[in-house]
Amino acid sequence: MERIEVDKSAEQSITAGHLWIFSNQVKGKPAGLPDGAVVEVAGERGRSLGTGYYNGKSLIALRMLSRERVAVDDLFFSVRIEEALRLRQEARYEGSFRVVNGESDFLPGLIVDKYEEQVVVQLSTCGMERQRENIVEAVKKVLSPRTVVLRNDSSGRKEEGLPSYVEVVEGQVSGETLIRIGPLRFLVDLLSGHKTGFYFDQRENRFLMEEFAPGRKVLDLFCYTGGFGLYALYFRASSVTFVDASSQALEICRENVRLNGLAGASFVKADVFDFLKGTTEPHEVIVLDPPSFIKSKKKQREGEKGYIDLHKKALRILSPLGHLFTFSCSYHMKRSRLRDIVRIAAYGHADIYLMRELFQAADHPILLTIPETDYLKGLVVKVRKRPAGGTHEP
Ligand code: SAH
Repeated sequence: MERIEVDKSAEQSITAGHLWIFSNQVKGKPAGLPDGAVVEVAGERGRSLGTGYYNGKSLIALRMLSRERVAVDDLFFSVRIEEALRLRQEARYEGSFRVVNGESDFLPGLIVDKYEEQVVVQLSTCGMERQRENIVEAVKKVLSPRTVVLRNDSSGRKEEGLPSYVEVVEGQVSGETLIRIGPLRFLVDLLSGHKTGFYFDQRENRFLMEEFAPGRKVLDLFCYTGGFGLYALYFRASSVTFVDASSQALEICRENVRLNGLAGASFVKADVFDFLKGTTEPHEVIVLDPPSFIKSKKKQREGEKGYIDLHKKALRILSPLGHLFTFSCSYHMKRSRLRDIVRIAAYGHADIYLMRELFQAADHPILLTIPETDYLKGLVVKVRKRPAGGTHEP
């Protein structure tokens, strides 16, 4: 195994528990080292810090796989995937869930999602792409799936110098896959749905509809295949309006409502901003679950402006004492900032009760030692609107 030397700051960061080393922290590396190569990482005076993989094209030059010097083979991946699986089993996950969540499971660049007997693997870095055969072997051994799909079409692959492709490497995929989450069934498009097909990270947050939706008129904005709204209907919302810009997502959403035998749904294919501009109809519960507006730190200001605008528009049609569920899946949006955004949007016309502070589901574990693993933030707020003109009340 080749060796890469890193500086003191990288050594401290690894000791603290992070797995990334940036290109400016690399002190020395063998000439001609190929991207994706597994290397031993060495700190001051040659002390071994463990094993990682290299990419010269990425700002993150090294991602650690182990704090020891280990052979990275199918056995290595089997042991790691087994450990990740145990963590989910302890949290009582079964059937369909995320088995491996990258850094959260000390496997940076690897996602493994289980949809009953079918498994979708996503390799987002060059280092993981090079381990493709080992990973597929390990997944087969640990999970014994009927089907394995490689959804290697995530946006980050370009920066890693990787092509985008989708490939079924085991079994067959015919049409949509039916999964069960709690009392509901969902259709999932494994080959071309978003991410690997389904947003598992909102699992427990959707369950909150049991408390907030009964008897209420609900608006599910950025609904995708209907996660929140379906639970709302199941827990006896008086109606749910689903809104999304994607006709494929809405088509599946419509099917999901039908196959769960739920009534009271309507569907709107629209840009959420346009939809909100064009309606004055009040709703008692509004769910705002947009895609990441802030993809990088540079985009923070612009993203926040869009976010505030979205919240202002949503608050306008929220009923008095209505509940707003709002989320940000961007790591760059801090929890306190999300609170600020709701506050700014309500300025002068409403007071806001914080009812719940929400996180991603437990199959996307948060490691306190890797802040980037804490990405999904949510709030449930109850909005007490002030009477028109009475901006200083109470
Ligand atoms: N709430 C969903 C997940 C939302 S993912 C769930 O529980 O599963 C974000 C969704 O926003 C995607 O379906 C995408 O098609 C949609 N989207 C992105 N930008 C949009 C826009 N400007 N208007 C409407 N929908 C949009």
